[in-house]
Amino acid sequence: AVGGDRRTKARPTVQLSFDEIGGQERAKQELIEALDFLVHEEQIKKFGIRPLKGILLTGPPGTGKTLLAKAAAQYTNSVYVTASGSEFVEMYVGVGASRIRDIFKEARQKATKAGLGSAVVFIDEIDVIGGKRDGGQHREYDQTLNQLLTEMDGIHTSETPRILLIGATNRKEMLDNALLRPGRFDRHIAVDLPDKKGRSHILNIHARNKPLADDADLDKVAAESFGFSGAQLESVMNEAAIYAMRDDTEAISHRHLSMAIDKVMMGEKTDREATK
Ligand code: ATP
Repeated sequence: AVGGDRRTKARPTVQLSFDEIGGQERAKQELIEALDFLVHEEQIKKFGIRPLKGILLTGPPGTGKTLLAKAAAQYTNSVYVTASGSEFVEMYVGVGASRIRDIFKEARQKATKAGLGSAVVFIDEIDVIGGKRDGGQHREYDQTLNQLLTEMDGIHTSETPRILLIGATNRKEMLDNALLRPGRFDRHIAVDLPDKKGRSHILNIHARNKPLADDADLDKVAAESFGFSGAQLESVMNEAAIYAMRDDTEAISHRHLSMAIDKVMMGEKTDREATK
């Protein structure tokens, strides 16, 4: 792993390994490749390769983008600093920009204090800040976006601590082109809804700390939960455990799992109807 050869014994601020993320094999592999690339500083310099500054994770809600960013921090032995684009909504002019400055400053300070060589800055819902600029409107966001671009341009591989920016969005098509230019978010990784195998993997991860009855068949649950995100599958396991507890049984049976699938599916429907 990347972190092993670091000078200090300092530990990253989050403890989450890629093993705790189900499915997403391609996304994990692409991310790890990008992270491995980061540590070959000498080679990058020798070949005059443009350093990697930003990785963009794109895909529907609840598919594990935040988990991937956290695992990236652990894998590279970095401190982890995070903010959500929605935190910048309704901010007065200039406040968003200074908040961006603060996040990067905080990342550098935290890494230095922890004795770590790098920091992962994760910005969820980056489209809220980095949405397409539409001629004069949303001026406060413009300033925020400009500050983000300035910070990105200021990232250098030779600096210590090194900063890696990871952004996440469900709406890649909304992003301003300035963010997607080479030298900015130039690595895009798709984090899609899991397929059946991925769903089974995710269910097994969330069953690790739960007692399952002999008849509980997680592969069958995976087959019956087409279109579910990782977050919804986590809910299925949790709801099933609640049903089992209410039944006063020792373990989660397949009936509890089936009821939980229905509940999560219904929940989604009511949410959707409510927002109509
Ligand atoms: P959003 O776009 O809504 O921020 P996200 O893609 O960042 O979503 P996460 O926050 O990573 O989603 O996932 C939410 C929760 O769902 C996780 O804490 C975890 O419990 C569960 N989860 C999602 N995806 C996975 C996965 N691939 N493996 C295991 N658990 C998952």
